[in-house]
Amino acid sequence: IPQSEHDLIFTRWMSIQFEQAIDRKLVWQILVVFIVVLLSIIYWNVTLRKKVQQRTSQYQVELNKRRKSEARFRNLVESTSDWIWEVGPDALYSYVSPKVEELLGYKPEELLGKSPLDLMPESEAERVAEKFGSIFTAQVPFHGLENINRHKDGHLVFIETAGVPIFDDNGTFQGYRGIDRDITERQRLVNFIRDTASVIATGAGETFFRDLSVKLANALQMRYVHVGELTTDGNHVKTLSVCFDQQIVDNFEYTLAGTPCENVTQGRPCAYPSGVRQQFPDDKEIQEMGFESYIGIPLYSAEKEAIGLIVALDSKPLKSIEFASSLLEVFSVRASAEMERLRYESELRRAAGVFENTTEGVVITDTSVKIIAVNKAFCEISGYSEEEVIGENPRMWKSEQHDESFYQTIWASLRETGRWQGEIWNRRKNGDVYPAWMTIDTIRDEKGQLDQFVSVYSDISAIKESEERLQFLAHHDPLTKLPNRLLFSARLEHALQHAHRQNELVAVMFLDLDNFKQINDGLGHPVGDKVLQKVARRLSAIMRDEDTVARMGGDEFALVLGDISDSMGASQVASKVLSVFEAPLEIDHHRLYVTSTLGISLYPSDGENVATLLKNADTAMYHAKEEGKNQFCFYTDDLNSEALEKLNLENDLREALNNDEFEVYYQPQYELSSGRLTGAEALIRWNHKELGLVPPDEFIPMAESNGLIIPIGRWIMKQACSQVKTWQEAGFDIDRIGVNVAGQQIQNSDIVETVKDVLKETKLEPACLELEITESFIMQQAEKAISTLEELRKIGVALAIDDFGTGYSSLSYLKRLPIDRLKIDRSFIKDIPYDSDGVAITKAIIALGKSMQLNVIAEGIETDEQHDFLTEKGCDEVQGYLYSRPLNAQEIEEIFQKEN
Ligand code: C2E
Ligand code: MG
Ligand code: MG
Repeated sequence: IPQSEHDLIFTRWMSIQFEQAIDRKLVWQILVVFIVVLLSIIYWNVTLRKKVQQRTSQYQVELNKRRKSEARFRNLVESTSDWIWEVGPDALYSYVSPKVEELLGYKPEELLGKSPLDLMPESEAERVAEKFGSIFTAQVPFHGLENINRHKDGHLVFIETAGVPIFDDNGTFQGYRGIDRDITERQRLVNFIRDTASVIATGAGETFFRDLSVKLANALQMRYVHVGELTTDGNHVKTLSVCFDQQIVDNFEYTLAGTPCENVTQGRPCAYPSGVRQQFPDDKEIQEMGFESYIGIPLYSAEKEAIGLIVALDSKPLKSIEFASSLLEVFSVRASAEMERLRYESELRRAAGVFENTTEGVVITDTSVKIIAVNKAFCEISGYSEEEVIGENPRMWKSEQHDESFYQTIWASLRETGRWQGEIWNRRKNGDVYPAWMTIDTIRDEKGQLDQFVSVYSDISAIKESEERLQFLAHHDPLTKLPNRLLFSARLEHALQHAHRQNELVAVMFLDLDNFKQINDGLGHPVGDKVLQKVARRLSAIMRDEDTVARMGGDEFALVLGDISDSMGASQVASKVLSVFEAPLEIDHHRLYVTSTLGISLYPSDGENVATLLKNADTAMYHAKEEGKNQFCFYTDDLNSEALEKLNLENDLREALNNDEFEVYYQPQYELSSGRLTGAEALIRWNHKELGLVPPDEFIPMAESNGLIIPIGRWIMKQACSQVKTWQEAGFDIDRIGVNVAGQQIQNSDIVETVKDVLKETKLEPACLELEITESFIMQQAEKAISTLEELRKIGVALAIDDFGTGYSSLSYLKRLPIDRLKIDRSFIKDIPYDSDGVAITKAIIALGKSMQLNVIAEGIETDEQHDFLTEKGCDEVQGYLYSRPLNAQEIEEIFQKEN
C-alpha cells in the first residue's frame, strides 16, 4: 500500500473508532486505560533506562579492555623485527602485520588474499608448497621452516617461518597464524663461512688474501676491505689485497699516523660505526672515498705481536658491529697464520738468496757432520763442485797445518758456546793450502735438539798475503829482500836452541864486501844498490833453504849455518861463498869485480849467545881483512890452520881422480876350513903428490860430504871388477871381489844403474861382485835400504853387511834384509880372546849367521889366538894382516902364482 493511501486508511479508521466511543462509559473506560498505560510507561521508562545505562557502562569497560590488549598486541606486532601473519583455511593471507613492508617491501593490504607461495621464487615455492601442504593437512604447529622470499624490489630475503593452527570454538580448523623472521644476515654468514672455508682450506699466498677480502666485503656488505702487513719499522702498512666495490684493486703502502688503523696495529680492534670521516680528518683515503664507517682488527704473530690488520670500510653507517667484528675475528686467525707463513717463506727465500749470493763460502752439515749443502762461493773458493762434496765430511779438505788438538778445541767450543770462530787452513781441490776465516754455528730445532752445523768460510789468502807482506817488510831489508838484522837474530837464536838440544854446531859468518865503497862513490848509489842486490841473489842461491843469509846494513851480510858436523863444514861453505864473487857482476854495462871477506864464529866454542857469536864473527872478519881480504877467517886460530889444511886437502881430492892419484889395493880373504883364498876386498888408496899415501878414513868422509864419493866409488868399482875379470881370465882361482859402497852412493846416485853398467862394461859375472854396505847406513835408511838392496839382489850381486855388530840391527829387521854375508867388525876381533865382550859378541854373531844361513867373515885378524878362536867357533872366512895386508894388484898376482 502506498504511503499516502496508508495514511488515509489510518485516519479513516481513527475517525470511525472515535465516533463509536462517544458513548460516556466508553469514554471513562478509555480514560482509565489511558492513565494506566501512561503510568506503566512512566515506570517502564525509569527502570529500563537504568538497565540500559548499566548495560552500556559494562560494555564500555569491556570495550576498553579489549582496546588496550589490542593496542598491546599491535605494539608487539609492530615493534618486533619479525612480521606476523594469518592465513585462512584456504591458505591465503587474512592478516599481515605492517612490518612486512620493511622486510619485503609490500604494504599489508597488498598481501591480503595472496598466498605466501606467491612471494617466493618459483623453485622455492615448489619446495615449500610440498612442506606446507603436509603441515596443513596435519594441522600441527611448525617452526624453523627456512624459505626464500623475493623482496618487492627483486632481491632475495631469507626467512624463517613458525606457525600454529587456529580453530574456532567448535574446533573447526580456521587456518594458521604465524611469524616470519628475516634470517638473511644469518644466512649470509653461513654462506660466507661455507664459501670461505674452501678458500681457507686450499688458498695460499696472494690468492688467499684476495679471496678473503672479496668474501669479507660481501659478507659484511661493506664497500671496501683490505688486508695489510705491518712493515718492519712498525709505521707503515703494505696491503696484501684490496677489495673495493667487489673488485680487487692495486696494492699500496700507507703511513699509519693519523689513521684509525694506527690503533688497530697497536693491538686494539677498532670500530667506528659512523662518522669516521669526521674523526680522522688526516686520513686521505677515508676523506677521498667519503667513508662513513670503519672496522679493523689486528693480525697477530705466534708471539702475539701485531703483524698486520684487516680493515673494512663503508659509505653507510655500520649496522651491526658485533656481526662484523665476530666475522673478522673468525678469519683473522687464519689470515695471521698465512701472513706469518708468507713472512717465513720470504725470509727463507731471502736466506736462500743470501746463501747463494754471498761471497763467503757456506757449508751446512747435519749432526753426523755429513755435508748437506754448500753454496756457489764455497765451490769457487775450494774448487770442489757441489756433487763432489754432498754427503762427505768436511775433513776431506783438511790440511796438515793443524794437529788433532786444534780440531778438538773447535768441538769443545761448539759444545760449550754453540759457536767457533777462527783462522783455519784448508786444502783446495787442486792441493793448494789456503787460510780461511771460519765461523761455525750450531743450529738447533724448535725442541732445542742439535740440528745442523753451518760453517761460513772467507778466503783470507789476500788478507794473509798483505799481512805477510807487512810481516815481511818488518823483517826484511827492502833493497835486497833478505832478512834484516831483527830476523837474523831470531833465526840465529832459534838455530842455537836447536843445536843445543841436538848437540850440534852452528856457524855464524860475517861478510863484508871488500871494495864496495869505491863502487858506491865512483859509480853512484844506484849502481851500489844493484851490486848489493846481485850479491844477495848469488848468496841466497848457494845456501840451503834452512840456512839464513841476512843483510845487516851497508855492505855487510851475515849467515847462519845450522846442523854442521865440524869446522870443516863451515870452511867448505865459506870457500863456496868466496867463490860466488869470482864471476864479475854485470851492472849497467859495467863489469865489476867485487870480493868479500868473511869472519866465522862457531857455537858453542866461540860463544853461546847471539850477541857474542856475532861480535866474534865480526872480529874474525876484521882479522881476515888485515890478513889481506878476499878470504875467510875463524875466530879461533887453531881452527884456521886445521880448516886450511882440510880445505887444501879437499881441493886436492877434487883433482885426484883426474890426476890418477887413486889406486886399488886388495886384501885377500880366506876360507877358515880349507885355508883357500876365496876372494878379496877392494880398498882405495890415495897417493897424494905431496902428502904421500892418504888413508881412506881421512878422505872418504870428505868425499862423502862433498859428493866426490860418487865418481870415486864408480871408478873403484869398475877398477876392481875389471881386475878380477882379468885375473879370472888369467886362470887365477878367485870367487869374488868385495867393493865398499858408501851411504851417499846409495842415497844420491842410482847405484843399481851403476852396478849394471859396471858389470856390463867389465863382463864380470854378477855373483863375483860383493857389495859391502855398513850396518849403520842400513839402519839409518831402514825401509828405503831394503828396497834398494832387493833391486841389487835382483841383478845377482852378493851383499855383505860391513862393520857388523856396531849398528844395532834388530833381529827381525835383519831377517828381512836380502843379504849373503855378515862382516864382523874389527873392533870385536881386536882383543880376542882377552876381551870378554868381544868374545861374546863374536860368538853371538857367528851363531846368528849360522842360524840365518848367512856366511860370516871376520876382519882384522892379526894373531894366531884370534885365528884359533874363530876356527873353533866355526867362523866361515877371515881377512886380516895375519894372512895378508891390502896389496896392489901385482902383489896379489904373486900370491896367486905362489899358491898355484
Ligand atoms: P873396511 O871396509 O872395514 O875395511 C877394512 C879396513 O881394515 C881396511 O882399512 C883394512 O886395511 C883394515 N884392515 C884389514 N885387516 C886389518 C888388520 O888385521 N888390522 C888392522 N888394524 N886393520 C886391518 P883401510 O883400507 O884403511 O880402509 C878403511 C875404511 O875405509 C874401510 O873400512 C872402508 O870403510 C873405507 N874404504 C876403503 N876403501 C873404500 C872404498 O873404495 N870405498 C868406500 N866407500 N870406502 C872405502
Ligand atoms: Mg869393507
Ligand atoms: Mg869393515
